[in-house]
Amino acid sequence: MGKGAVFLDRDDTLIENVPYLGDPSLVKLMPGAMEAIKALRLSGFPLVIVSNQSGVGRGLITKEQVRSVDARMEELLGGRGIFTTYKHCYAAPGDPYDEHRKPSPLMLQEAAETHGFDLLQSYMVGNRLSDIQAGDRAGCKTILLHLRVPPDEEQESIRLASFTAKDWPSACDWLLQSKRADQ
Ligand SMILES: [Mg+2]
Repeated sequence: MGKGAVFLDRDDTLIENVPYLGDPSLVKLMPGAMEAIKALRLSGFPLVIVSNQSGVGRGLITKEQVRSVDARMEELLGGRGIFTTYKHCYAAPGDPYDEHRKPSPLMLQEAAETHGFDLLQSYMVGNRLSDIQAGDRAGCKTILLHLRVPPDEEQESIRLASFTAKDWPSACDWLLQSKRADQ
């Protein structure tokens, strides 16, 4: 059986959301994200970005711009190669391949198949209901990072999430305790 991974939403989870961001100079980390990523890596979790980037499908930004933003985020979070892989869904709703968009669990399931992750021992962390639904449908434990949750999604997201964290330190503490309890 494979090991658990931590799947991470990008925008408003690791970096501040700027709609259809294509300029790496505008990348700003969310509070506590750097320390959290460090702690999760130290505990041995593979880390995977799972992100809807429909700005590409809508023709507003290019895949290269998304990659340049990812590269800047990686640099700010601790250096190259900290993520095992990136799963982006570039499709806008209604496009071909839009079935990969969160709340679909497909991006998580495909990463698990490629890298041999055990989804039942994995976690999904995000700020939107669609993150929590994607993680839940994949069989992961889910953490709602309650820093930037859209008000109309708040109630349902809190109800569905395994844990609602007020900030990154509490998300990290809960995740690492939950991992220990499973062993
Ligand atoms: Mg987000």
